[in-house]
Amino acid sequence: MQQVLVLNASYEPLNVTSVRRAHVLVFKGKAEVIEELDQPLHSATDTYPWPHVIRLVAYVRMPRAVQRKISRRALFARDSWRCVYCGTTSGRLTLDHVVPRSRGGDSVWENVVTSCAPCNLRKGNRSLEESGLELHARPKAPAPVLFIRLAAPRIPSGRRPYLHCLDDATSTSTA
Ligand SMILES: [Zn+2]
Repeated sequence: MQQVLVLNASYEPLNVTSVRRAHVLVFKGKAEVIEELDQPLHSATDTYPWPHVIRLVAYVRMPRAVQRKISRRALFARDSWRCVYCGTTSGRLTLDHVVPRSRGGDSVWENVVTSCAPCNLRKGNRSLEESGLELHARPKAPAPVLFIRLAAPRIPSGRRPYLHCLDDATSTSTA
């Protein structure tokens, strides 16, 4: 199933959508085709460019307050599949609440991190200070581009320039 990368008027990646929806946006003049595939898109009577990357004509304001649901996959991807405490990339990764839930810690992006099983065990129900473990960066909600990547694991070469420019924004969430 071919998906289309949708860019904001500012060229920021917004989401991925179906070819059909992308075509409708272009057809209604709400978006322009930035990149197209070699093969044309055929309707009953016409031929159109097959959209690959489209850009909205009008800027869409991204609501900052919208919290994306936390999944292990998105969390581990945000933290580069590394334990935030000791930095290991081997072994089983777990989800750790920085402020333990038993102490009122919420399940929000700002309070969950990727932890290896030994560090998680070591921390237990203690606070960061009590456990002696250190966080090198404050956890935060991942940039929207991370969810775009997870939704479209195989990024065709045409999309890479747009996603690459936001790499820095996602990799700084936790070190
Ligand atoms: Zn660890």
